[in-house]
Amino acid sequence: MHDTYDAIVIGSGVGGCCAAALLAREGLRVLLAEKRSRLGGRFSTSDHDGYLCADGGLAVQVGGPIEKVCADLGIESGVRPASRSAYWIEGRCFEIGSGRGSLRRTLEQIAASEDEANRVLAALSDGMNWLEPSNRISFKDWLSQFTDNPRIHGIFQSTIASLLTLNASELPAGEYFRLIKTVAPLRFGYVEGGSTRLWGRMADYVKGRGGDVLTSCPAQDIVVEAGHVRGARFRHGQEDLVVRAPLVVSNLGPSETVALAGREQFERSYLAHLDASVQPTAILWMHFASDEGLFEYSALSVCGTRRVNMLDFPSLDCPSLAPPGKHLYTVGAAPLDTTNPGDIDAEFARVLEDLREIIPGFDQRCRILTRTCYRGKWPGFRTRPGQALSIRTSVRGLLNVGDAVCSPGHAGSMGAAESAMRAREDVVRSLARAFS
Ligand SMILES: Cc1cc2nc3c(=O)[nH]c(=O)nc-3n(C[C@H](O)[C@H](O)[C@H](O)COP(=O)(O)OP(=O)(O)OC[C@H]3O[C@@H](n4cnc5c(N)ncnc54)[C@H](O)[C@@H]3O)c2cc1C
Repeated sequence: MHDTYDAIVIGSGVGGCCAAALLAREGLRVLLAEKRSRLGGRFSTSDHDGYLCADGGLAVQVGGPIEKVCADLGIESGVRPASRSAYWIEGRCFEIGSGRGSLRRTLEQIAASEDEANRVLAALSDGMNWLEPSNRISFKDWLSQFTDNPRIHGIFQSTIASLLTLNASELPAGEYFRLIKTVAPLRFGYVEGGSTRLWGRMADYVKGRGGDVLTSCPAQDIVVEAGHVRGARFRHGQEDLVVRAPLVVSNLGPSETVALAGREQFERSYLAHLDASVQPTAILWMHFASDEGLFEYSALSVCGTRRVNMLDFPSLDCPSLAPPGKHLYTVGAAPLDTTNPGDIDAEFARVLEDLREIIPGFDQRCRILTRTCYRGKWPGFRTRPGQALSIRTSVRGLLNVGDAVCSPGHAGSMGAAESAMRAREDVVRSLARAFS
């Protein structure tokens, strides 16, 4: 430990780990400090009876920002692409092919007529290539102009809820197109050995470049003097540590960053934007185990059910996530209202009804390992698509990274990693200016 660093990164979620490693790559001496005993925040893994369950995020975009950061650092991402995926609709699986034309093939199979499939495809194409729909209506309302077929609504609902942790009725229409332009054709995978291993590799990279990484080390305050950040104060064991740095990167989410620095340090328009923007989403998340491989797909986009929208089988492609010969499954579900999920037990009861329908004999064949509703300060996403803030705060030298400061079209872990890449660029540009 030193008293002074070039940069302090507070919080080791996706954005924090990526930012710390990228700044170390630029030659900065970095302190990465995390409140919890392990790295990764809402994208970590924990061991439940030998099964490595995702404490939050599970799927990584293949070739996306996290893999780009790893390539830049020269470390292995460990991401194994999902081998096969399908839509589950009324008890049947429709394989999702790779590459272009895959949505057309699915729509042709599930639409009531060729006309209906063509109408929806033409509207989607116009939205992508001619005029992006406005954010004034929801994606569900936008789609309803072209079809009321519940199977077609179901595939968009499952995709949106899986990628964005909200319902199609809650997503501003334009944001769907922004996302698809950024991620299509989407390929995703799982981290072999669990995502916490990946963050461990990034932490080793920081240490290998002269930095330090502390866990169980909550920041108590961010120190600001005369409009400039000066460092942070931490609690580590019985000790109070005061660390100075001209640059502080916070991964706590903008609201918590402001709380630690003190609201009085921020300019009023920044606070007004913050207060209007931060609206976390809730997500229902479950893991279960089975002695059987229940499907031949590593991911099912589940359509037209009460709550469940994704059912992943990560141990199919990453066997190390389950004990030998056993299988691990992850369930994602959106409450009807992702702002106020209401009675969580009742919501999980609906999830269970869905699982019993999707997997005959669920109670005999499967054992539930975890059941969590992420919300509030530990949410699905810290804010909704279209509402993200900038990485810069109004305090000089104080930046945010994470899923509340994504660029348009980015979300979740890919948005958090992308925010770290922008933070690095911002710092490099500022350093270049300082020395020019
Ligand atoms: C159930 C669930 C499933 C999801 N599935 C996916 C998915 O499959 N794919 C995907 O891309 N995204 C998914 N997401 C979203 C994704 O997990 C998040 O967008 C991403 O992990 C957010 O990372 P972040 O950089 O914002 O940091 P966070 O994960 O918010 O990390 C912040 C860190 O700061 C630490 N911290 C807080 N206070 C302090 C303090 N005072 N001092 C020090 N440290 C502190 C926290 O402990 C934490 O480690 C999912 C989210 C959830 C909840």
